[in-house]
Amino acid sequence: MISFDDKEINQLISINTFNDTSLFAVSVIDLSKYEIIYANQAMKNVMSDMTAVNCWEAIYGQEAPCMWCKAPGLLANLKKSTQHDFQSTMNNGYVIYEHFNEVANKWYQIQEKVEILEDSRSVLISFCLDISLQKEAQSKLIDTHVKLTNQTQVLEEVQAKLKEQANRDPLTNMYNRRYFADISEKIVSIAQRTQKPFCVLMVDIDDFKKINDTYGHNVGDEVIKQLAEKLTHSIRESDVAARFGGEEFAVILSNTDKEDAMVFANTFRTDIKNLGFRYENLPIDFAVSIGLDAFDRENDKSINDTLKRADKALYIAKDMGKNRVICYAQ
Ligand code: GH3
Ligand code: MG
Ligand code: MG
Repeated sequence: MISFDDKEINQLISINTFNDTSLFAVSVIDLSKYEIIYANQAMKNVMSDMTAVNCWEAIYGQEAPCMWCKAPGLLANLKKSTQHDFQSTMNNGYVIYEHFNEVANKWYQIQEKVEILEDSRSVLISFCLDISLQKEAQSKLIDTHVKLTNQTQVLEEVQAKLKEQANRDPLTNMYNRRYFADISEKIVSIAQRTQKPFCVLMVDIDDFKKINDTYGHNVGDEVIKQLAEKLTHSIRESDVAARFGGEEFAVILSNTDKEDAMVFANTFRTDIKNLGFRYENLPIDFAVSIGLDAFDRENDKSINDTLKRADKALYIAKDMGKNRVICYAQ
């Protein structure tokens, strides 16, 4: 490989290389007065004021030396006897940075070096490459990335909302039958592992058809909502209540045996009976019947077996005159 100490090569890679046809805008500034002593055609194209002698005025349209000017730092570093730190951030004495030139309205990658000439003049040699197109492409890419990230976030939120909605009943916002089926599988497996009892309740509004017929469907809807609200607030966080359809609800009371389930169900039934619900100042009394049973860890294959027994108990409660709680008995 040819060494760069080679004089001929050094001459080849000289200021002549960056002549008037060069893509690089090249300038040489005398640092005693910040006077432009050389500018190729590309650099002249950048300049707004060809009559100005100072680089800050001609190249950057400033009225005083530019705040970002690298020359003082380069000069100070060049004069330092130890240049270890300097060398580590520099490429053979050059500093390379990007700068937006407001006069040219363009981004440049600038490579600069201070040289001390034989006559002891300090000069700043600058090679500026127009990188506006790359910058524009980069900023478009960032914009696209930001937009994409925002869209992904919105999409994730919509998906989470849709998933939540798929588990909810629109009238009462209670969990639906589908969620009940999913969660009950988990509750069964926890109960099997922990050997703890849990109970299933079927809750049904008494003579609901009569409420609809007497006061209208809207009032019927309000009654369903009232019951749903009361039920949601009556259970613990570890319990699950779902609207099964119409005026029918299912409840799982975790860590609860039959006796405690009976106490809960009767309290809830009484609370509903004494709710004192009014619609447009009209008192609307309603009651519920509840059938329940405990999950049988030995014999129940799934929660559906327990639900069937709770449903049978509910029918017995209805047969016995409604507004009551019946626990399934063989
Ligand atoms: P029982 O005491 O034996 O439970 O009698 P019931 O009248 O409550 O029960 P039935 O099954 O005969 O009637 C339930 C009615 O509930 C029939 C149906 O039109 C009505 N229904 C079902 N879903 C809704 C709803 O979302 N809103 C309203 N307002 N009515 C509903
Ligand atoms: Mg009913
Ligand atoms: Mg019913």
